[in-house]
Order: sequence, then C-alpha cells, then structure tokens
Amino acid sequence: MLSAELLEEGQHLMAVCNSCRYCEGFCAVWQSMETRTVFEEKDLNYLSNLCHNCSECYYSCQYSPPHEFAINPPKTFAKLRVYTYELYAWPGPMAKAFHRNGLKVTLLTVLILVAVMTSASFLLGGQLFMTVHDGNFYKIVPHSVMSIAFAVVGSFSALALLIGFLRFWRNVGESYSTLASPGALATTAKDIFTLVNLDNGGDGCSYPQENSSESLKWFHHATFYGFLSCLIATTLGAFDYFALGQHGPPAFTSLPVIFGTVGGVGLIVGPIGLWIMMQRRNEEIVDKSQNGMDLSFIVLLVAISITGLLLLVLRQSAAMGSLVLIHLSFVMTLFLTMPYGRFVHGIYRSGALLKWSLERSRQAKSKASA
Ligand code: SF4
Ligand code: SF4
Repeated sequence: MLSAELLEEGQHLMAVCNSCRYCEGFCAVWQSMETRTVFEEKDLNYLSNLCHNCSECYYSCQYSPPHEFAINPPKTFAKLRVYTYELYAWPGPMAKAFHRNGLKVTLLTVLILVAVMTSASFLLGGQLFMTVHDGNFYKIVPHSVMSIAFAVVGSFSALALLIGFLRFWRNVGESYSTLASPGALATTAKDIFTLVNLDNGGDGCSYPQENSSESLKWFHHATFYGFLSCLIATTLGAFDYFALGQHGPPAFTSLPVIFGTVGGVGLIVGPIGLWIMMQRRNEEIVDKSQNGMDLSFIVLLVAISITGLLLLVLRQSAAMGSLVLIHLSFVMTLFLTMPYGRFVHGIYRSGALLKWSLERSRQAKSKASA
C-alpha cells in the first residue's frame, strides 16, 4: 500500500508544479500533468513511470531544497516508481523482493545454482573437467536439460512480466482494448528504439551531475541493444538446433556467435558505463534504497557477458565445463530476478510512453472536433 507520507509528497509536488509550470518544455511528465487538476494515486503511478530521471527539472527549480517546498521531482518519482513495481508484482508476495534483491542475495542465488548444477552433474556421471575437443558444451549439460530448465524459468518470468504490465495498464486507467492502437504502438516503439527522451533535443540529460551529457543515452543504448542482440543470438541458436538439426557448437563465423559476441560486448560496455555514472551522480536526486537492486542487475549482466565470451574463447579447454555451469547459473539468476528487479523499469516505462502517446492522440482528436 502506498504510504500516506509518499502520497502526500507526490500530491504536494504536483500541486506546486501544476501552479508553476516552468518545466513544461522539459519532458512528457509536465505536459501530461497539465491536462490534470486532480492527482490520485493512479496518476502518480503513471507519471512516475513516465519520468526518466534526467534531473533537468531539479536543477532548474527555484523550489528545490533548501527551499521550504523541498521540490525534488526525480527523487519523489523514483520512490513512487519502486512502489509501483511492488504494486504490480506477480505473484503478490514476491513484491518484497524489490527490497531484498540486493547484490548479496543475487550472488547467493548464483552460488546455490552452481552448487546444485555441479552436484547434479557429478551424480549423473558428467565429467565437468574433461576437455571436450570439439567445444560442444551439450556434452557437459545435455541440450534437453538446458532447454527444459530455461523453458520453465523463462516462461514463469515472461508470465510474471506480462501480468505486471497488464496490472500497470489497468491501474493507470486504461482498458485492455486500447493496447490495440497501431499508431500509438508505432510511436512508442520509435521512442523506445531511439531513446529520444534521453536525447533531450541533442543536449542530453543533467546526469550524473548538472552539466548536460548524452552518456546516459549511449550507455542505455549499449545495454538495450546488447540485450536484444543476445536474445537474437539465442533464438538463432535454437533455430539452428531444432530446425536445421545442427547439434554441434556453432562456428565462430555463424550468426548466433556474431550476435552473441556483439551483444556480450554491449552488455559489458553499457552496464559498466551506467555503474560509473552511478558513482558520480548527485546523491540528492536519487532514492538510495534502490542502489542494491541497480547494482545486482548490473553485476548480473556483466557477469553473463564475461562468462559467455570466455566460454566462446575457452570452449575447447578443460575450463569449459565449469564455465558452462557458472554462465548458466548467472543467466538463470537473471531470469529468476527479472520480474523483481530493475528490469521492470523497461516494461513500465514503455507502458507509460504508450499511454502518453494515446493521450496525445486523444487530445489532438478532441481539439480537431472542438
Ligand atoms: S520542478 Fe520546480 S520549476 Fe519545475 S514545474 Fe515544478 S516547481 Fe516549477
Ligand atoms: S527528472 Fe527529467 S524526466 Fe523526470 S520529471 Fe524531471 S525533467 Fe521530467
């Protein structure tokens, strides 16, 4: 439940900002705010996910601390956002994980998975430390075992993310039928793939400090496209295995390896860049209670990429067996924690952008008919 204190803080922010309106050119939050006079919890839930934490408003605000109004939009919206993550989480009891999904819990999960898989491998007679001369890691972990394990965990994660998104959509006042709006979907897809909002008209964001910089956009791009590229690599690998019957290790020049390598590099550069920016950011504009969640997501992405690339290079050595288990454990942990960690930011932010696109088209229609 949203605490009375946070609800009051959000409504105080909106009351002051809606009277001031100085920031209306900065981002969609302010333009959407101006179409409202009342700010219920659902409005705050939507607007907080529409905010991308660029901090332009904070540095321009005459009412930011030490002013008695203590206006701090990026921090207030960050606190509201994590509340929405808990509100939409499925199954409900897992909502607590957003506060426990720190680095220690993540690494412990990885360790448990490594221990379980290593024990299972020995019990089943697998030879973890043997050299597989053709580099075929399915001789260490059979393809059927890998497919079934990831199908189960992946399906659960996908279902949890889908239910979370649908809960968000209803909570912010939209009906499911509005999801079938091709124009708004196309606009939103363009916004997501270009990260146009982080571009801020070419100036970039006031992050990590007051000076404008495009670094946030480029490191987000590296992370997003790195993730996408790895997803394509996995899909192509599955296609080669099931449709083309290629059961051996993919060649270094094959599409799954090329996409996987490009994605792996993106998932090292992007998250490390974001982590460096986290170290330099103005702590006044963030909700520090979310640091553990951010760090665990960054560590998982980087660890998956490094172990994946090492696996490619060392696949014909005796280290391959251990690397396979460690890599799979990191990937499995990412899948398990995706619905309860920073990953959901991408889901609800996309939903907020879609709602914003729908709002604009409704406004245009009502002006045209007036
Ligand atoms: S953040 Fe400050 S300057 Fe911007 S609209 Fe709100 S009160 Fe005005
Ligand atoms: S921090 Fe940036 S995105 Fe968030 S409300 Fe302020 S100007 Fe908009």
